[in-house]
Amino acid sequence: MNITELARRLRVSPQELRDTLPKIGFDIGQKAIKIDQYLAQRIIREWPRLTRDLKNREERERQQEEAVATARAERRVVKIGPVITVKDLANVFGLPVNRILTELMQNGIFASLNEKIDFDTATIIGSELGIGVVASEEEAMDNDINELKEAENISGSNNLIVRPPIVVVMGHVDHGKTQLLDAIRHTDVVATEAGGITQHIGAYQISRKDKEVTFVDTPGHEAFTAMRKRGAKVADLAILVIAADDGIKPQTIEAYRIIKEAKIPFVVAINKIDKPEANVDRVKQELANELGLVPEEWGGKAIICSVSARYGQGIDELLDTILLLADLNAEARLADPLAKAVGTIIESHIDKGEGPVATVLVHNGTLKIGDNLMCNQQYYGKVRALKDYRGQLIQEAGPSTPVKVIGLRATPEIGDIVRVESVEHRNKTKIIAKQENQAIITKVQDDNSFKGTPINLVIKTDVYGSGEAIEESLLKLNNEEVAVRIIYRGLGNITEGDVVRAAANQAKVIGFNVGVNAQVEDLARDKGVLIERYQIIYDLIDKVRQDMQALMKPEIKRINLGQVKVLAIFKQEGMTQIVGGKVIEGTIRADSLLEVVRGGEVIGQGKLVHLQAGRQEVKEVVTDQECGLQIESLEVLKVGDILRIYREDEVFKKM
Ligand code: GDP
Repeated sequence: MNITELARRLRVSPQELRDTLPKIGFDIGQKAIKIDQYLAQRIIREWPRLTRDLKNREERERQQEEAVATARAERRVVKIGPVITVKDLANVFGLPVNRILTELMQNGIFASLNEKIDFDTATIIGSELGIGVVASEEEAMDNDINELKEAENISGSNNLIVRPPIVVVMGHVDHGKTQLLDAIRHTDVVATEAGGITQHIGAYQISRKDKEVTFVDTPGHEAFTAMRKRGAKVADLAILVIAADDGIKPQTIEAYRIIKEAKIPFVVAINKIDKPEANVDRVKQELANELGLVPEEWGGKAIICSVSARYGQGIDELLDTILLLADLNAEARLADPLAKAVGTIIESHIDKGEGPVATVLVHNGTLKIGDNLMCNQQYYGKVRALKDYRGQLIQEAGPSTPVKVIGLRATPEIGDIVRVESVEHRNKTKIIAKQENQAIITKVQDDNSFKGTPINLVIKTDVYGSGEAIEESLLKLNNEEVAVRIIYRGLGNITEGDVVRAAANQAKVIGFNVGVNAQVEDLARDKGVLIERYQIIYDLIDKVRQDMQALMKPEIKRINLGQVKVLAIFKQEGMTQIVGGKVIEGTIRADSLLEVVRGGEVIGQGKLVHLQAGRQEVKEVVTDQECGLQIESLEVLKVGDILRIYREDEVFKKM
């Protein structure tokens, strides 16, 4: 049925229909022109109920937004303890409980009314709702003690276990990597049924014969190589997939090279054996000839399984082979679940609701909610929530477990190694970061030789890396006249705090890939703080460069126009003198500057005000022409003096 026809039947405009459908669970895409008859019938049937629900929902949301707006307008600050129940928090905030629950959910926390949340979470929720949260002093101390205890608990212990093997699947494009990963996932009934919809977090786990196996389902060859280059240990075993109807292809060779370099055991899975064109023997021949991988049955060492990922054929045997290989290499996978967690980032992005999220593949130790994560010697935040590959909230993730971490301040890069640090260490790095910040600020302030103009900036970015890059590029623009001074650099949306900070320092707020809400914009307007937002680093740098340029004093450049010999003196009255002369060089113009030269030496300065040729006032006179000149000069001119006429231009220095 045509969309227009469906819209007509539902008595709405086609655009309204397109906009509403996704909101009520039918995502047909903005460009769809036709939809199938069955779907159209379902939409017609369910339209009244679903749109009514939608309306109610939107009304509820509107009311909640209103309450939030009121809270924001009041700019309240509330005091809370180290933990607080959701219900109490709603009370303290003066907002409907639902609103708190939604906000928590958007931060990946699915709490019930009476569930307790910690101070940090409450602060984050508060900041998103425009409410300041502070801890009273004794409560803050409790917080620290709690955190210290927690940190102490993590250390020590030496009970080693063999962690589950981590397996990667590699091979040429279209040879069936994705399908195989799906087929393997479906062998685990528990894994696929428990959570309903499976989440793609970059890896999943299955349980087979009471043993767990982790499969990394993201990395193509590039990602895998990138991770290894950074020293990250990603996988313990590999599956090299080759389509039985296609044989060895360039990426098969590349994948084999990577596996060989990583020195990890592997199984060759010859896939698509269900296809009529499949020729397993030919692939085996190619393996032996092209890669030197001689199948076991031919007396070689290559372990080969024939499978059909599409029909699930041979998957059990493949998995058993993997378990066997894993058993043979068990000693390479010893881990201490009681240690502080160390893992590799295998996926990371900014999620609309959850903010920066990342999947960590834990290699050693156990990652827990509340852990402080360090990555590249930077503090990346506290683990606020952990989700497994089924999208379920979990409390902790032990060795070989892939887990989505919520609560990060920025997105780490794939291949980055994350560690859990104690509170003590975190505080130390916080202090270091603070000192570094101050160093930037005082670098300019304390530099007595800097007499120029500072450009003060508060910079907010979506990720840590871009903040660093922007700062580095901006500081490079500094010169002896104008220098960028970064008052503060932080992550996330532009907040009222940023505006206040900027106002106190006559600074401008610059946002890169971050948002700003209307309240903050209003405050900025009140305080006369400029907010600029960019999506392209180049544009940002260029604008700052222009600002700096505008503040730089222009250079004065002298342009010699010509010389005049004084032939007669007509009138001398104070500074004003009218003389006759001849241009001996160049083209001179009225409204210029001049030097008086007598006996080869400059003896005075002056201005050429008017020029006359014959009786006419003229703008310019050329070489060999005689003229009358009205001059302003303190020097009393004499016949025979040479007047050097010149102009001074202001030239803006190029940065
Ligand atoms: P990838 O690029 O290696 O991830 O390959 P995909 O898993 O996306 O598979 C590529 C195509 O091959 C898809 O159309 C799959 O449906 C198909 N395919 C994968 N495995 C099999 C199989 O065992 N049998 C058949 N007949 N087709 C398969």
